[in-house]
Amino acid sequence: MPNCPMCQSEYTYEDRGLFVCPECGHEWSEGDEVEEGLVVKDSNGNLLQEGDSVTVIKDLKVKGASGAIKQGTKVKNIRLVEGDHNIDCKVDGFGPMKLKSEFVKKL
Ligand SMILES: [Zn+2]
Repeated sequence: MPNCPMCQSEYTYEDRGLFVCPECGHEWSEGDEVEEGLVVKDSNGNLLQEGDSVTVIKDLKVKGASGAIKQGTKVKNIRLVEGDHNIDCKVDGFGPMKLKSEFVKKL
């Protein structure tokens, strides 16, 4: 049995496909744990979440665009994705693109 993700209790049990923690009452399914696998951190090590706003911390060259995304550019409503470029977003003046979380800072 996995430990409770809320309180780390070892006394969890399974009930009709759900794991149940008798200590804090938390119930969860195995599928929930897999979804938490996507951890995206900004340049300061802060966890980023879907819908967050960030600023770009350095000029970023964009393939196919004439200019670079300037340091300090605000990017709203990010989405988190898997891979090397783990932020999916829209940048004003550039359109939809993917950024690396190491080059942004949470606002
Ligand atoms: Zn618990």
